Amino acid sequence: MLKTYKFRLYPTEEQAQIMHNTCFLCSILYNRGLAMRKEKWENEKLSLSAYDQIKGLPAEKEETPFLNGVYSQILQDVYRRLDKSFQNFFRRLKEGEEPGYPKFKPARKYDSFTYPQSGFSIEKEGRGGRLKLSKIGTVKIKMHRPVCGKIKTLTIRRRAGRWYACFVCEIEAEPLPKTGNSTGIDFGINSLVATSDGELIPSPRNLLQSEAKLKRLQRAVSRKKKGSRRRKKAVLALQKQHEKVANQRRDFAFKVARKLLEQNDLIAIEDLQVTNMVGNRRLAKSIHDAAWNKLATILEHKAEEFGRTIVKVNPQNTSQDCSGCCEKVPKTLSARQHNCPHCGLSLDRDVNAALNILHRGLDEAFGDREAEAS
Ligand SMILES: [Zn+2]
Repeated sequence: MLKTYKFRLYPTEEQAQIMHNTCFLCSILYNRGLAMRKEKWENEKLSLSAYDQIKGLPAEKEETPFLNGVYSQILQDVYRRLDKSFQNFFRRLKEGEEPGYPKFKPARKYDSFTYPQSGFSIEKEGRGGRLKLSKIGTVKIKMHRPVCGKIKTLTIRRRAGRWYACFVCEIEAEPLPKTGNSTGIDFGINSLVATSDGELIPSPRNLLQSEAKLKRLQRAVSRKKKGSRRRKKAVLALQKQHEKVANQRRDFAFKVARKLLEQNDLIAIEDLQVTNMVGNRRLAKSIHDAAWNKLATILEHKAEEFGRTIVKVNPQNTSQDCSGCCEKVPKTLSARQHNCPHCGLSLDRDVNAALNILHRGLDEAFGDREAEAS
């Protein structure tokens, strides 16, 4: 299985300039490649593959000699990225959706480039580490944890004026001992997460404070005049806060996921894709959505590593149905308690939903087997 390690880079001004340049040149190649595909398709109904485009790279370099300043495999990877966006486009088309045609990417939004196999080496590990990057130099890197497994790719990312190195590694799974427990979790309204065991997990205070500050900074940006120096400054502060919130969310999600996975062999969660489709969330705070998505992603990812099972269930009516007797008990979003007039069950609304999610998850995981046995 694959695992990503992200570390902060501390390039010199000169190195950062080369990295900015690399992103810029990659964006040019990407957009040109996209235009070429479009043209081929519209004029000749031919679809180019990544391989076709990579073959054309020498000609591109001749036309734009600056491209020679970029490590060759990075340029090849640009075409693979483009190919991936086309594959996604065709896949969604096939599934009956109406996806947008792959878009041109403005250079300022082209924020990363990838060494797909070689061209980099870790010269020194640890917080005072050094990472050698072909055509860029030896860059300071803060490796705050060891990299396990075999490194497959390295992506250099720019975010809020900072640079990061993301290593994707192939690692061995390390299954946890079986516990015999299962749980359902609801991405709640009263709290961030409710479990079917009755536990309510709120967002930590430092995260709530950071989210509040994020909102203030968003308002500050919208008040500043477009194109002004003060707006630019405010935008940078906003980006930094975004990054901080994202990091805090990730740390917290890791903590919660770790605990849930240690305690349970099977975890049932809402299928957030379906949730978003039926629009259940429209009334919930959108700021929570990011935290839920993060947690769901980490749970799925870590479950594989730990040999646990995640079951995604249809979220419809999980908060309305009674987990005790299955009768429908309509309630508004503001109702914090589930009180069933049919069987007398009374408990937190989110815990009731979590129980429904658990039941559906168990049905999905074992339902067939039970039916076979009976
Ligand atoms: Zn009931």
